[in-house]
Amino acid sequence: MKPLTIVKLGGSVITYKDSSPPRINFKNLTRIAKELKEYKGDLIIVLGGGAHGHQAAHSHGYANPESPKDILLKGIPPIRHNMSELALSVETSLNKEGILTVTIPPFCSVTLKKGVIHNFPIHIIRKSLDNGLVVVTHGDVCFDEEKTAAILSGDTIAVYLTEKMNAKTILIGTDVDGVLDDNPRLNPSAKHIPLINQKNKEMILSKTGPSANTDVTGGMAKKVSELLDIARKNRIIAIFNLTVPARLKSLLRNEPTICTRIQP
Ligand code: ADP
Repeated sequence: MKPLTIVKLGGSVITYKDSSPPRINFKNLTRIAKELKEYKGDLIIVLGGGAHGHQAAHSHGYANPESPKDILLKGIPPIRHNMSELALSVETSLNKEGILTVTIPPFCSVTLKKGVIHNFPIHIIRKSLDNGLVVVTHGDVCFDEEKTAAILSGDTIAVYLTEKMNAKTILIGTDVDGVLDDNPRLNPSAKHIPLINQKNKEMILSKTGPSANTDVTGGMAKKVSELLDIARKNRIIAIFNLTVPARLKSLLRNEPTICTRIQP
């Protein structure tokens, strides 16, 4: 088996997150596909929801734990439609670069329980990788055993699959240089943090906040705490700025670049 790398494409990078109706950022998508092209190991690409996921989720009550069932149910078709559209565009961009790609949407097989992953079959993902295909999956709405349906974020999927499939590398692409010592939207002079580990984690977590956009999935604070849970010796974990050309390529080559590394 080849080493497995999981790359999360942040919704803030592949969509215009505050655009309504949702719009895909094809310029970034085309460049990202070129950067991924030379990678030869097993690869899973996880898409964040961005404009395609968060707006529909928000307007159908997914940010509110008290939302009635009928409102949540009405949100399933538009969220699914938007995320399928986004995944199809990513698939098209990757296929154009000769990266043979299949999309495996969580809605079709994953269930949640109280918003947490309950059942996430990976057989088809493994089979696809073993047959040389790159797998695209994405943040999605999923049925929940106890509360109608809930949102499963791309970040949570990336972290879950890293642990379950024993990935060597997980790269979380977003629209900032990694983790900063304050929310950069509120404090433009916030400083970059190159490494998070047991020594500084409490201090960092107290300074990371939710995303400023209509994000129903937790923003930077949740990314950091989920990644700390799967930090292991010999596992490469980085949060990096995917809007800056060539950083993804450097990380895939295991070359130094600006990012926040997460270690045990
Ligand atoms: P994506 O859509 O790319 O997954 P998110 O919007 O979920 O990204 O998270 C990235 C955002 O988190 C940044 O654009 C920034 O506004 C916000 N953020 C809040 N606190 C911090 C912090 N301490 N360091 C970096 N980003 C932060």
